[in-house]
Amino acid sequence: MMSSTTTDSSSSVDVALIGGGVMSATLGVFLRQLQPDWRISIFERLDSVAEESSDAWNNAGTGHSALCELNYTPQKADGSVDISKAVAVNEAFQISRQFWSHLVEKDIIASPRDFITPVPHMSFVWGEANVAFLRKRHEALNAHPLFSGMEYSEDPAQMAQWMPLVMQARPPGQPLAVTRSLNGTDVNYGALTRLLFSYLTETAGCTLHTKHDVLNIKRGPDGRWQILVQDLRLNTQRTINARFVFIGAGGGALSLLQKTGIPEAKGVGGFPVSGQFLRCTNPEIVAQHRAKVYGKASVGAPPMSVPHLDTRMIDGKPALLFGPYAGFSTRFLKHGSLMDLPRSIRPDNIKAILSVARDNWALTKYLIEQVMQSNSERMNALRDFVPTARSKDWELVVAGQRVQIIKKDAQKGGVLQFGTEVISSQDGSIAALLGASPGASTAAPIMLTVLKKCFAEKLPEWDAKLKAMIPSYGQTLANNPDLCAELRDKTTKVLQLADD
Ligand SMILES: Cc1cc2nc3c(=O)[nH]c(=O)nc-3n(C[C@H](O)[C@H](O)[C@H](O)COP(=O)(O)OP(=O)(O)OC[C@H]3O[C@@H](n4cnc5c(N)ncnc54)[C@H](O)[C@@H]3O)c2cc1C
Repeated sequence: MMSSTTTDSSSSVDVALIGGGVMSATLGVFLRQLQPDWRISIFERLDSVAEESSDAWNNAGTGHSALCELNYTPQKADGSVDISKAVAVNEAFQISRQFWSHLVEKDIIASPRDFITPVPHMSFVWGEANVAFLRKRHEALNAHPLFSGMEYSEDPAQMAQWMPLVMQARPPGQPLAVTRSLNGTDVNYGALTRLLFSYLTETAGCTLHTKHDVLNIKRGPDGRWQILVQDLRLNTQRTINARFVFIGAGGGALSLLQKTGIPEAKGVGGFPVSGQFLRCTNPEIVAQHRAKVYGKASVGAPPMSVPHLDTRMIDGKPALLFGPYAGFSTRFLKHGSLMDLPRSIRPDNIKAILSVARDNWALTKYLIEQVMQSNSERMNALRDFVPTARSKDWELVVAGQRVQIIKKDAQKGGVLQFGTEVISSQDGSIAALLGASPGASTAAPIMLTVLKKCFAEKLPEWDAKLKAMIPSYGQTLANNPDLCAELRDKTTKVLQLADD
């Protein structure tokens, strides 16, 4: 576990990063590479970094690239499959892969296997309509350079070879279909975060303050941001001045953003959805599965609640999880307060929040059903994927909290968004990241968005360095099959992702 007791005497820094998760870590590394002379301070309220959503067991560790997640390829009214969102998600993940490859090549990360492992990504469906959908989805994706090599099968013998645990004791006669991509990954975002912070804290001018809670952020008379920080060890408070602030506080970002008073934060609210997983405790069963197998979401389920059976690779050991089961808590962080949701309601966002409550009955119903679920109902959901599952081999673990974004909407009053959004001040001196999907997988492209929004005047100067870090910077891989293939091969090699 990584923690720091270092204090810098300076009360003035160039950059303050709030939160010790994968997002702050990624932005910190970008800035360190681009502008090594800037002083950076990082504030994390917990004992060590990566203890909230970024920790390995608080998320599913999927390198989201839309190879298996059916929610990124909705079926249109005419029956065709819309792949535009899948292309965007995959393209974003290629940027993360390039960024991580750069860190390996620069020896910032010694061994990629410490955080990323090749794990086949599969989509699995049953029932005639779903099989027809998956066939169409495969046809649409396989023709695209970002998804080339995706395999499709309706043959039970082939499926049994690809995913024996899922096919074992499955009653015959039901139409089934599977796609498989060997380009999938499992990512330990907690390990990645720790590696990035280890590097950052070894560089001069960068200080990590754990057990430091940011209480307030306000604009000072000189235009810089004044950050009020509580040292939870010494029980003292101090103010840090920063030219640029990134609020990478995960579920805690909304309340800090509201405190800044920037007009861009007005009308924004949050809706927390918590997650739970079943974790397999029997190594013999874990050994029988090696894939991330994603199914179809139930009616009313939020997009990130698609059920999946996942091989995880955590600290060099394989593990198996199934879920997520959604839950409801008014906390915005796993270690947060039950008052987080009530405290986030303001005169400027209450209309949007009430409109979302009124218009999202299917989601509310789904969450109530999920919260009321008994253990045997959870096991039955698992048996759709593992027909032979026994409850004694599985334990329930509580994952992280996701806070979905609620925004004002002229027609509806308010809308619930399931993506991620960077909200920044007009002068680019402060930015916050809200939302959590596709999440940690897209940390690098999201932080590129922060750089574009907040440091537009520096981009020409940083251009060469950005291209060295992200060779596709400024281009679209989806329109450039040769570059797409070249970079996929390169990152596969550098990140050691050729399936073994
Ligand atoms: C159930 C679940 C499954 C997921 N699965 C995936 C997946 O498969 N793939 C994927 O890519 N993403 C996934 N995600 C999303 C991913 O985990 C998040 O997008 C990512 O970890 C967010 O990183 P972060 O740095 O923004 O936040 P966090 O990791 O939550 O870090 C925020 C940090 O800020 C600190 N903090 C908060 N308030 C303050 C304050 N006032 N002062 C100081 N510090 C503060 C917190 O203690 C915390 O350490 C999943 C998330 C959940 C909940």
